[in-house]
Amino acid sequence: MDLQGYYQEIRDCQKCPLAGSRTQIVFGEGPPDARILFIGEAPGRHEDQQGRPFVGASGNLLTRLLETIGFSRDSVYIANILKCRPPENRNPLPQEIESCLPHLRKQIELIRPEVVCTLGNFATQVLLGKRVGITKVRGQHFPARDYWIFPMLHPAAALHQGGMRPWMEEDFRKLKKFLDLGLKPQLPPE
Ligand code: URA
Repeated sequence: MDLQGYYQEIRDCQKCPLAGSRTQIVFGEGPPDARILFIGEAPGRHEDQQGRPFVGASGNLLTRLLETIGFSRDSVYIANILKCRPPENRNPLPQEIESCLPHLRKQIELIRPEVVCTLGNFATQVLLGKRVGITKVRGQHFPARDYWIFPMLHPAAALHQGGMRPWMEEDFRKLKKFLDLGLKPQLPPE
């Protein structure tokens, strides 16, 4: 099974009620062997219409920030916790997260990224499995099975609160430094 095969398998997913209101699933995009996987919250209106993640203003900012550290948008993989748009952009419900998370886990298994960058509180809490505030953990690295979780501010936060923009730029500089170290994640023995 490769990523394209998995997309074909789930493109008609009916595991939660969002199947009834979406235009299409937003699977994610990028090279199937990307080193970095960015994870946002859920598709918005434009993403739902176009079937691509981060196509609006947040996506433009993400692209520009990537370029400041020498990565093009198409060198990284971009996905979301939820594959389908919640109506009126409401917060994802626990049942939706539970239904959808196996899809993201499968993508991680197939892509085998070195670093999974969680954008904002929501994706960070889901992947770390803890209720931690993004401002406390941003720019740090946490070992997962065979990749790192690297929380960062969500670009939408920097767009809505201009004061956060330098923090976001700092997160990207930290990401670049961290990647350059080439560390292998090591979980403490159980
Ligand atoms: N677009 C996405 O695809 N995800 C987000 O979290 C925000 C905008």
